[in-house]
Amino acid sequence: MQFDSSDRVAELQERLGAFMDEHVYPAEPVWVAQVRNAPSPHIHPPVMEQLKAEAKRRGLWNLFLPDAEYGAGLTNCEYAPLAEIMGRTQIAAEACNCSAPDTGNMEVLHQFGTPAQKEQWLAPLLAGEIRSAFAMTEPDVASSDATNIAMEIKRDGDSYVLNGRKWWTTNAMHPNLRILIVMGKTDASAPTYQQQSMVLVPIDTPGVEIVRNLPVFGYHDPEGHGEVQFTDARVGAENIIAGEGMGFMIAQARLGPGRIHHCMRAIGAAERALELLCDRADARETFGKPISHNANVRDWIAESRIELEMARLLVLKTAWLMDEVGNQHARIEISGIKFAVPEICLKVIDRAIQVHGGGGVSDDFPLATMYAHLRTLRLADGPDEVHKLSLARQELRRQRERRKASSSD
Ligand SMILES: Cc1cc2nc3c(=O)[nH]c(=O)nc-3n(C[C@H](O)[C@H](O)[C@H](O)COP(=O)(O)OP(=O)(O)OC[C@H]3O[C@@H](n4cnc5c(N)ncnc54)[C@H](O)[C@@H]3O)c2cc1C
Repeated sequence: MQFDSSDRVAELQERLGAFMDEHVYPAEPVWVAQVRNAPSPHIHPPVMEQLKAEAKRRGLWNLFLPDAEYGAGLTNCEYAPLAEIMGRTQIAAEACNCSAPDTGNMEVLHQFGTPAQKEQWLAPLLAGEIRSAFAMTEPDVASSDATNIAMEIKRDGDSYVLNGRKWWTTNAMHPNLRILIVMGKTDASAPTYQQQSMVLVPIDTPGVEIVRNLPVFGYHDPEGHGEVQFTDARVGAENIIAGEGMGFMIAQARLGPGRIHHCMRAIGAAERALELLCDRADARETFGKPISHNANVRDWIAESRIELEMARLLVLKTAWLMDEVGNQHARIEISGIKFAVPEICLKVIDRAIQVHGGGGVSDDFPLATMYAHLRTLRLADGPDEVHKLSLARQELRRQRERRKASSSD
């Protein structure tokens, strides 16, 4: 495992850093004002299209996709420092066409899409012309166990007909949303992991209704998290992805990169929070000395620095494993970072909020939205407990094998 950046990545880091300084940070207050002053919270702020054009012009586009024919052709290890830089703001990943859930959906189409599906949906997604959503979670069943998913996807002649309800469908309110990848059951009598399939459902399909947006801690994210009703929604049979019964396999393939990208960006957000913490603690005085002179604040700074280094190392080791042995073989490590990294980053952001006093929970600083967003990561893409369950199962298996091997010596 190598810790220094290749020449190409170092150059990209520099180019991305310059883009952040010259365009993204100055656009942050503009983006906030455009969202806040709009008649509906679900607008696509015009400044985002300007940022996207600039990112494209600078060759900072689709950096997440490892296939050089479609994306930047970077390994996971190479992408990590770049995703971290983008994670410093709420808007940079979208500006570079590297934001969830589109990245995961593009990966699904890239890996499993037919040539026609790629032409119709992957091409405009890669160009940043449209947005997509991934609809798996359902209000009526505990969806952290995906075998519970109940949406019915029934074959009827040359069509599939969908009936059921989803929620937390991120991007549902985005004005550029055109396509949903929907997971549901095509055969409830098949073996457990072959009952599920995924189909492409254009958002304008009759029978698809966005019922409402779900706020997060009271925030209405512009892209939205929708509750979506499907009533006899009919799509062509050619809209199935990779065939019937492949839903679980695709979900596993999709979630690996998505999860590590979240972790990479979370570290970027927490690094920025630590910077803000230090700036504020040096700048303000109480009882005759700067806040940074208090021992507890110094402890927080030291602990934050070392915890972020540990989180980054774990993410890099996982990225390296994904590059070396594939996403499937790195799945336990992916589960490990998926619960460890948000927890660490939330702790750092919480300390930064505390040092900012009342300002920390206001929207004069990015800390409150950072915290709200990162807190959802302990649920989205699988709650902490389910990831810990996978880790514990693997560890118990390993320890039982060790005992068996030593008893047969
Ligand atoms: C902001 C946000 C965005 C999201 N975006 C999307 C999206 O785009 N598409 C999509 O399909 N979904 C999305 N989700 C949904 C998310 O993936 C689910 O909320 C998550 O998988 C948990 O499913 P659930 O809500 O049904 O919780 P449940 O399955 O009901 O679980 C509830 C809780 O039970 C506990 N639990 C579950 N199993 C165990 C266990 N084995 N041991 C111990 N405790 C356990 C956990 O604490 C868990 O949080 C999003 C969620 C949020 C908050």
